[in-house]
Amino acid sequence: MPDNRIQKVLIVGGGTAGWMAAAAMAKVLKNDYCEIQLVESDSIGTVGVGEATIPQIQLFNRLLGLDENEFIRKTQGTFKLGIEFVNWGRLGDRYIHAFGEVGKDMEAIQFYHYWLKMYAEGEARDIDAYTLNSLAAKEGRFMRPVEAGNSPLSNIAYAFHFDATLYAMFLRDFAVERGVHRREGKITDVRLNPDNGFIDSVQLEDGETLEADLFIDCSGFRGLLIEEAMKTGYDDWSHWLPCDRAVAVPCEKVGPATPYTRSTAHSAGWQWRIPLQHRTGNGHVYCSQYISDDEAASTLLKNLDGEPLADPKFLKFTTGKRKKFWNKNCVALGLASGFMEPLESTSIHLVQSGIAKLMSLFPNRDFDQEDIDEYNRQAHFEFDRIRDFLIAHYCITERDDSDFWNYCRTMSIPESLQRKIDQYRKNGRIFRDSDELFNDLSWLEVMHGQGLRAKGYHPIVDTLPKEEIARRLEGIRQVIAKSVEYMPPHEQYIAENCPAEKKEMGSR
Ligand code: FAD
Repeated sequence: MPDNRIQKVLIVGGGTAGWMAAAAMAKVLKNDYCEIQLVESDSIGTVGVGEATIPQIQLFNRLLGLDENEFIRKTQGTFKLGIEFVNWGRLGDRYIHAFGEVGKDMEAIQFYHYWLKMYAEGEARDIDAYTLNSLAAKEGRFMRPVEAGNSPLSNIAYAFHFDATLYAMFLRDFAVERGVHRREGKITDVRLNPDNGFIDSVQLEDGETLEADLFIDCSGFRGLLIEEAMKTGYDDWSHWLPCDRAVAVPCEKVGPATPYTRSTAHSAGWQWRIPLQHRTGNGHVYCSQYISDDEAASTLLKNLDGEPLADPKFLKFTTGKRKKFWNKNCVALGLASGFMEPLESTSIHLVQSGIAKLMSLFPNRDFDQEDIDEYNRQAHFEFDRIRDFLIAHYCITERDDSDFWNYCRTMSIPESLQRKIDQYRKNGRIFRDSDELFNDLSWLEVMHGQGLRAKGYHPIVDTLPKEEIARRLEGIRQVIAKSVEYMPPHEQYIAENCPAEKKEMGSR
């Protein structure tokens, strides 16, 4: 048998995506399977935002074998129990999309069916009272799960906030220590094989040529290989996710770091607030059709906790995805693969998920088209389902105070999303589509939080007398409240477990 295996991988780009790919491949492929090289350009730099994550990142950390406390210390990280959404359904509204469990299932029916019935009849509290993560977030408390039998403390779901630049540096050290070759330089040309359109090599500004069998395009929004060279094509989703710009600025930390991200809707977009140990990350994602850059920056600066620590940085993007994520011998990851705004912190997850799919379908040099098609099928499914979840935040709203919100409230939406909304509205049912990223509890919290009310409820709920449901709901509420009381303040937990080095005031 001829040795047909991939001998050289070239990763183009050293942002979060590039270094995540390099670290994972170094770990999985080990040193002697093939050579892994990463090229990045200091003069072009990275996006440098992307500071909030979802719990699945723990799988990635585990794959790398990271010490979580060290990772948090080195990235000025904090813990995240969910996202608070402010002013989304209506001005003045707030709700939390929390990770993890909601209540406790009874009689093989999900808790929320009982809760929906009782809530509609005015006999249950808001969902937060039955959700450990929401209540803990509101109280500023955090701890990792502990062995505690049936207690909700046994399965606290959490993710992280971190400094994206420090994260990329952390992963770079990890990858380079494990044999990844880093090359600084700017790619000026990508050479395609004239016979089959595969990438043969890239050419650097200093004249050097880098060849490889497999190319990973992590070059950011432009998609240097997948788009500029290979002309793969892009599905534009601006009609559903119309925000096309962001302005970001870090500010001084004021008060204890909250264990959640905050997303506050404004008149033509929304603002993120991400607490880190040494500063707070902020950004305003907006639609340039409805607000100017200057107005967007001024809205952002007016809504900071503390003094800004840098000049506002502007970014432009088009929401959507590549028509193929894997094309011939090129796989696009990160911003090169597509972009959905960071409303539910999904981009870093999509990088991780792309890497996992690539590892499970890792090619030989003959690049089996069936494997490539399978990769693309899975990636399209994942992108499309996340897209629907994000659109739900915009279209399920009563806001009519600006042209932007009037557009979002009345726009046509994907049929797959319409079906989900209709099912929920009818009788509170939510079906997770295959293994889509967000489960029924996430959809419940967001649809209910945005103001959508189910008209009916699951008929089997009536098998329990109302008094019995009320008694059980109250029992669950008390257990949740007691559990949260037991949890330490988030800042105290960090100080005891993973405090970062103190930074000079004003430094990143
Ligand atoms: P980049 O950071 O742009 O890196 C591109 C790399 O390619 C750089 O190293 C650059 O030097 C290199 N490069 C480009 N051209 C060349 C060339 N010609 N030669 C050599 N090298 C080249 N994700 C989340 O999960 N959570 C969030 O909260 C979140 N917030 C975000 C907020 C905003 C406003 C934006 C825009 C994104 C956010 N993201 C978030 C997404 C996240 O930032 C990205 O997924 C992540 O940073 C990956 O970026 P990247 O590595 O693909 O691209």
